[in-house]
This record gives sequence, structure tokens and C-alpha cells, in this order.
Amino acid sequence: MIPEDHPRYAALVVRERLADAMRAGIVAPEGLIAQGRGEAFDYLLGERTTASAARAEIDAAAMLLAARRPVISVNGNTAALSAHQLADLQEASGALVEVNLFHRTEERMQRITALLEEHGVDVLAGAPERLIPLSHDRALCLPEGIGAADLVLVPLEDGDRCAALRQMGKAVIAVDLNPLSRTAQTATLPVIDEVRRAVPAIAAACRTMTPAEARERACGVDGKRYLREALAAIAARLEEMGHALE
Ligand code: ATP
Ligand code: MG
Repeated sequence: MIPEDHPRYAALVVRERLADAMRAGIVAPEGLIAQGRGEAFDYLLGERTTASAARAEIDAAAMLLAARRPVISVNGNTAALSAHQLADLQEASGALVEVNLFHRTEERMQRITALLEEHGVDVLAGAPERLIPLSHDRALCLPEGIGAADLVLVPLEDGDRCAALRQMGKAVIAVDLNPLSRTAQTATLPVIDEVRRAVPAIAAACRTMTPAEARERACGVDGKRYLREALAAIAARLEEMGHALE
């Protein structure tokens, strides 16, 4: 039991949830390390959604609504952290949901699909093909899902796969706390926020936008600006903390 008065109670609860999900075969062991890297950057950002990330989340909603065939690509960490929120985002955005794993096994695919379905997500099924320009099983995706998508939302993606999706001519929205990761650097739109804060914010924005507003906003998205603003937010916070010690 984690004591509720522990100063890092919320983070510890999430760690416990991911560790349980790993023991249940949903999260890969490497997924726990990825969460740790995310936590470190969340610490630097102040464990809150910055004003810049809040704008990126509205942009993400606009891009999802304006896309012809948007697909949300879900991995083990995202499913373990946000399954219930993804059902709501799917409903608000009309996007398809495909399970796509870096550490792919048939068993994990099935467990993650079952978890998402328990939470009301409509998960795309079908026979995967090697369509992404990457070696081995990382190339696999569904021809009628990511294969046919003009926009892919990839919460917690690997940099290689993000770049490969861009090479295929697809727009990519990444949710990644690290503005220095290759994922954030290569995405069309990096949402530099924690996935459990980002997913509901994107869903809420989808519900307040008309199709015409979405199309107009989607045209003006500037991904690089969000990288600069996240780095500036981290720099300002570190400087402030340094001054506080004087
Ligand atoms: P890249 O491959 O993009 O260069 P990486 O190798 O540093 O990045 P990966 O291990 O491939 O990172 O993926 C994990 C990424 O997901 C990290 O950049 C981390 O910041 C981010 N991340 C992990 N947990 C969360 C979370 N809960 N919310 C948002 N981002 C997260
Ligand atoms: Mg990586």
C-alpha cells in the first residue's frame, strides 16, 4: 500500500499501475524505463500542462477532426495508462484505433486489445502487413488502419517509427514529455505533455470545434514552435529554482 500522504503519491500510484500491467503482460519491461524517462521530463516541466502544451492539444484536436482517415496507434504503456480516456477520445474525434507494438508478440497484442475493449474502445482488427519502412516486425501495421491513414496519433512513440511514418507521407501527432526525443523532433505536431493529461484535453477540444474551425486551425500548425516553447519553459523553471536557492 502506498501511503496517501506521501509527497509523490500520484506518481507512485502510476508506477504501481504500470508494474501491475507489466506483470499482466500488457506493458513490456522496457516500457517501465520509458515511463521513467517521461517522469524525469515531467519533473522538469513542473508536472503540469504548460500553456504551450494546452495550445498544442487544441491543434491536435483540429488535425484529428480535419483528417480524412485519422488513426490512433496504441502501445502497452498507453493502454495501461489511458484505456478509459482513449474510448472518449475515439468517440470525440471519430478516429480509428489500432494496437501497434514495438515489442510485438501475439499474446501482448491480444491482451492490450482485450483491455481496450473492456474500456469501450472499438479496436481495429485485421491481418497486419509489412508496410512501414522499418526492419522486422516493427514494419507491421494494418493496411486499412495505419497503412491507409493520412494522420496518425502516436502517444509514446519510438523516434524511428515516427520518422518512418513521416517518410510514408503521413502527418504524425506525438505525445511525448521529452522535447529532445527524436519522436518529438520528427512529429508534425509534438504534444509535450503527460499522456493522461493530453488525451482528455484533446478529446475536450474536439467537442468544442466546428469542422470549418478545425480545417482552418489544422493548416497553421507549427510543430517546431512547441519544441522551442517546451525548452524555454524548462530553462525558465530551472533558472527560477536556481535563484530560489540564493
Ligand atoms: P526517441 O526514440 O523518440 O528518441 P527515446 O528513445 O528517448 O525517444 P523511447 O523509450 O523510445 O524514448 O520512448 C519513450 C518516450 O515516451 C520518452 O521520450 C518519454 O519522454 C515519453 N514518455 C514516457 N512516458 C510518458 C508519459 N506517461 N506521458 C508522456 N510521455 C511519456
Ligand atoms: Mg526510442
